[in-house]
Amino acid sequence: MKRAEKRIVLPTPTMHGEEMKFVQEAFDKNWIAPLGFNCDNFEKEMNDYLIQGIDKPYYTLALSSGTAALHLAMKLAGVKRGDRVFCSSMTFAATVNPVSYEGGVQVFIDSEPDTWNMDPVALEKAFQKYPDTKFVVLAHLYGTPSKMDEILAICKKHGAVLIEDAAESLSATYRGRQTGTFGKYNAISFNGNKIITTSGGGMLITDTEEARKKAFFWATQSREPFPWYQHEEIGYNYRMSNVVAGIGRGQLIHLDEHRERKEAIYKRYAEGLKDAPVKMNPYLDYTMPNFWLSCLTINEGVGVTPLELAEKLNEANIETRPIWKPMHMQPVFKDNDFISAYDKPVSEDIFARGLCLPSDIKMTVEEQDFVIEAIKESLR
Ligand SMILES: *Cc1c(COP(=O)(O)O)cnc(C)c1O
Repeated sequence: MKRAEKRIVLPTPTMHGEEMKFVQEAFDKNWIAPLGFNCDNFEKEMNDYLIQGIDKPYYTLALSSGTAALHLAMKLAGVKRGDRVFCSSMTFAATVNPVSYEGGVQVFIDSEPDTWNMDPVALEKAFQKYPDTKFVVLAHLYGTPSKMDEILAICKKHGAVLIEDAAESLSATYRGRQTGTFGKYNAISFNGNKIITTSGGGMLITDTEEARKKAFFWATQSREPFPWYQHEEIGYNYRMSNVVAGIGRGQLIHLDEHRERKEAIYKRYAEGLKDAPVKMNPYLDYTMPNFWLSCLTINEGVGVTPLELAEKLNEANIETRPIWKPMHMQPVFKDNDFISAYDKPVSEDIFARGLCLPSDIKMTVEEQDFVIEAIKESLR
């Protein structure tokens, strides 16, 4: 197989120039600290972006990571020691680890084949088995919106709080509405590989000012309003730095452009691979994914595993990555329950046949065509 001269990679940061302007402003004002004008403006600008078309206020809080946002979401939801929490199984560990930080117990829910996200049928089944459960944590995998109408109806029916992990799906919409605005508490991430990045960071999104205030309090070491340092609760150091928030403000200007380029990459793969024995990661036609990562599954019976395909692509200097290994298959969660509506769980099947493809928005058309040809050749 031919080898690409320059390695063709999974997503890397794409900077534009405005980022430096906001960072420079922080330096010029010597505001090199957590909090500050870049944080305030980043929160406001992100809020404006998220509430497009929604006529109710949201409250955003810039934090040191998406994981921190998820942790504070668990605390706000009221997850306590021993509480059961229904979680997407096929996701990154950061979706579900914060449940353990609070002493909660994850029950993992299988995926459905239409979006690869939490299966509403399995979720309902889980409520039948554990009717007193009060929390659901759902991720929009690879930037593809989940079946929100169904999930929200089930949460409502059982009086459960929904926490949305929109870390991968910023700018994706479900029936025109931004992901990260459906749950009671929601998280997005600006980690280095996400659709926009601050190098590292995250944001909590809620629909009450009170919740934002409480999260701010916890994120700032739970400092009580006293002249001295007074603490009545355990706190955390989770605030975003004013320097980092400057990067975020510059990136946000280019979010829609990043999404469009991601979509073009996905569509080019879909077209180029339409006759190959693979399928692209699916989505519902009334949703608009952000196409953060283009992924494929190798058709059954082809006789090539994702790791074999990855090895061949690696020889061609193409970087790929296995699909997130489902959490119910992880040794650290071997004692946690898992609920599926299928005899052969969908998440296990996707993991067994799936691969994430180079999706960096700086990838040229020639590079992408090279990847497409290499995939076809590897599967011939
Ligand atoms: C990246 C990611 C997170 C965590 O975000 P960080 O900012 O890296 O802490 C959480 N959930 C999912 C699904 C992610 O992909």
